[in-house]
Amino acid sequence: MDFSPIGRVCSFCGVVGTQDTKFSGGLGAMMCADCLSYYYEISQSPARIAAVSRPPWEGMSDVEMLSMLPLISATADQVAAFLEDWVQLARARKISWREIGKALGVSRQAAWERFAQREVPSRDSSVSPG
Ligand SMILES: [Zn+2]
Repeated sequence: MDFSPIGRVCSFCGVVGTQDTKFSGGLGAMMCADCLSYYYEISQSPARIAAVSRPPWEGMSDVEMLSMLPLISATADQVAAFLEDWVQLARARKISWREIGKALGVSRQAAWERFAQREVPSRDSSVSPG
């Protein structure tokens, strides 16, 4: 699993990480240091919290709204890749497809079909879920 900030995307502003970018994050969502500072400042003031508590799209033009779509898509892709990485890590620990499927609320077969193509083949790998 790549832990580098290079190519990571801030899930709040869309900035793409470089070697020098500092991110905080979890579960695939990332927050750059600038956003972390911005939202920390907001969190310190009830008036500022109230000011940003309405849906962001309400004040957006159509162009602004459309400009958000690639940023949301990049975050979705990042979260999906994070999930794939974690499944791969679970498989490296020999956790079964049945257990992975159960954790995700799907069948063993569904988990295998979704994630097995990224699994690093081993000598004893087969074409069906194990
Ligand atoms: Zn950011």
